[in-house]
Amino acid sequence: MILGGTTEARRLAAALTARPDLDVTISLAGRTADPLPQPVPSRTGGFGGAEGLARYLRDEQISVLIDATHPFAAQMSRNAAEAVSESGVPAFTLRRAPWECVEGDRWTPAADVPAAIAALGPSPRRVFLAIGRQEAHHANAAPMHRYLVRSVDAVEPPLTVPEVTYIRDLGPFRLEDEIALMRGHGIDALVTKNSGGAATHAKIEAARHLGIEVIMIERAPDAGLPVVTTVEAALGQLDHLLSPAMKRGV
Ligand code: NAP
Repeated sequence: MILGGTTEARRLAAALTARPDLDVTISLAGRTADPLPQPVPSRTGGFGGAEGLARYLRDEQISVLIDATHPFAAQMSRNAAEAVSESGVPAFTLRRAPWECVEGDRWTPAADVPAAIAALGPSPRRVFLAIGRQEAHHANAAPMHRYLVRSVDAVEPPLTVPEVTYIRDLGPFRLEDEIALMRGHGIDALVTKNSGGAATHAKIEAARHLGIEVIMIERAPDAGLPVVTTVEAALGQLDHLLSPAMKRGV
């Protein structure tokens, strides 16, 4: 079973359709109103914490669990690590590498979304808030800034700040479009999670190009499962875990 909600999870599932020896299920939280179609059968909704997941793994006789959730889905990853330590199911994490700060970048690290909003400082700024809809409400703590908020689904309830513009869009995004967007809105700070990956990297390049400060929200530490960063490496790891030697416990 693949814990999904990411491009990598979908790509891994697609690659596994070529494996008739495997019965693959992808699990989704059910947050997206209109989720993309999945290449393998899917199930939707929480398991009921680590205990619920451990029970599910046992009941469904799952041979391998792959945590391919988003790098910021920290609770699900903790649950996965706890459930497999309880149930003994082999498991690993597929997690894209974080973006690295390069010359020309102006990054200010932040531990979480509230810290990122605080890092904007007390003077009014024009902020591009590109962190998804679930945690956008933290901007309410700093109503002196003007916000451009981009998310896949609508921010509900809307922010209470006086000046906000919403854009609903799904990546991948192009550099020239990101530059035009940030210029057009007079943006002077970008708030983003360090999600990694190519689909949303153009905002980072656009900020570099325009000399804009990036408040970069860092990832929580990994939950403890072995980590691979590419779909190709995940296929190798899966083969390793399914090898006869591993099944004998070697
Ligand atoms: P989270 O805070 O780590 O998880 C909260 C709860 O949602 C979990 O305890 C679990 O409920 C349920 N859940 C999460 N992922 C699930 C999955 N793949 N299958 C079944 N249940 C799941 O997660 P989140 O940050 O809300 O993210 C939810 C989903 O959106 C994830 O699948 C993630 O890959 C995707 N996503 C997240 C972000 C982000 O920035 N956080 C961005 C893009 C996509 P129970 O405890 O009841 O099992």
